[in-house]
Amino acid sequence: MTDAHCHVRRGESRHILCEPCDVASAAPGDAVFFGFHPWYLDGFDADALRSRLAANPRAGVGEIGMDRLRDKVMPTAMREAFEAQLAIAAELSRPVVLHGAKCWGEVFRVAAKYAGRIPAFLFHGFSRSGGLVPDIARINGFISIGPALLNDHAVNYRELAKTIPLEMLLVESDATAENTAEVPPVAEVAAKLAELRGVPLDALATALEANATRFLR
Ligand SMILES: [Zn+2]
Repeated sequence: MTDAHCHVRRGESRHILCEPCDVASAAPGDAVFFGFHPWYLDGFDADALRSRLAANPRAGVGEIGMDRLRDKVMPTAMREAFEAQLAIAAELSRPVVLHGAKCWGEVFRVAAKYAGRIPAFLFHGFSRSGGLVPDIARINGFISIGPALLNDHAVNYRELAKTIPLEMLLVESDATAENTAEVPPVAEVAAKLAELRGVPLDALATALEANATRFLR
């Protein structure tokens, strides 16, 4: 099964590996995404990113975005780095993995300016209510569901996961080198998703794989 968003290889059939990660660890079937995560913008260098992408025609851009988890006030440098990376993704026509903790509306508004020029977006860790989902669909956006779905207290997240259109869905671990031992495999997330949506797991798994392939195309 495809892990649609992780920072470390985990023995899945395909990983969409986003920086920060060890890109050299990627296996032939994996997809690698280069970019500066909003928490790690020290040394941000747009020209270096563009050069690495140009040298790797199959690489995407991610994980990039904005964040209000650590700072209530969005730092200007965070917004500028996000926009600069979106502009590069548009210039080189690469798919993008987005991060938008506690600011998905703002991340969407900025990303939507590049709709059509950026071929596809993955809204990773998206946990807002469903109001934004039709807008995300309009810009060829996908939404990856993570291990939070396995938490019986995640009532709102489960409701969201039930209502996202099937053709937009992916599953992710968001595992890092530090937490990979504790994070369940994406198959467990997919099994819970199938149960909640009342569909057979094999049919859902087939759709998830097709969606991952479309996102990466
Ligand atoms: Zn991540």
